[in-house]
Amino acid sequence: MELKLQRNRQILLIVGTIIFSLGLSQLQLTPTQALDNKIETNSITAQSTHLPPLEPPTEIASNIWQNASFPVENFQSYTSPFGYRRSPVDGQIQFHNGLDMAAPLGSYVRSWWTGKVTKVAQDAACGTSITIQSGDWQHVYCHLEGTVEKSDKGHYLIDRAGAIQIWQGQDIAVGARIARIGMTGRTTGPHLHWVLRHNGNYVDPALVIKEMFKQNASLMPNQLS
Ligand SMILES: [Zn+2]
Repeated sequence: MELKLQRNRQILLIVGTIIFSLGLSQLQLTPTQALDNKIETNSITAQSTHLPPLEPPTEIASNIWQNASFPVENFQSYTSPFGYRRSPVDGQIQFHNGLDMAAPLGSYVRSWWTGKVTKVAQDAACGTSITIQSGDWQHVYCHLEGTVEKSDKGHYLIDRAGAIQIWQGQDIAVGARIARIGMTGRTTGPHLHWVLRHNGNYVDPALVIKEMFKQNASLMPNQLS
C-alpha cells in the first residue's frame, strides 16, 4: 500500500527512522547474517533535509523482542523496504508504509505479538487485511487470503481452505496463525505487506525484526528455505 507524500509528520518520522537505522547498522546478527543483508533501507530523503531526527520508540532498543513472533512461515525474501521510494510508473516519490515479505502463496501468517484484533477489512490497495493492537503498538497484515464476512456477531475474516476464521474484536496470542499469504489487493506477487505503528506513528518493521534476531537466535529455524 502506498500513500502519497503528504504530511510533515511523516517526513519527520522517516528522517528520524533512517538516521536511527543507520545507527543500528553495526548490529551483529550472526544467525541471520545473510538475511540481515537483504533488509534494505530507503534513503531518499536523508541528506537533503535539515529536519531534526525524531526519537525512535524506546521499546526498539529494549529487551522485550525475544518473545515476538516472526510474522511469516516459509519466508523467502524482503521484496520492498519501508520508506520513501520513487515510483517506477510516474517518478513521483511515494511513501511505502510497511515492509514487504515474500512467501509462497498459502503460507501461514503469524501474529507478531499478543493483542486484540481491532479490524478485519477488504480494500483495493491492502486487500484482505487484519489489524491488531498490542499496547502502544499496532500491526497490520495486508494481501491475505480469504474474505471478510458479517454475521449477527460481527465481522470476521474467513479463509476456509486455510481453516482460518478471525473475528474482529477477538484476542490473539503471539505466534498464532491468523491468516495465509495471498494476492488480494494491489500486488504483483504473493507477499505480506506488514505495517507497524507505535502510538500512531509508522515504524520501519526492519528495525524491529533486526532486534528480534539479535535477542532470539532461534527465531527462524526453518524459514530460510
Ligand atoms: Zn508493500
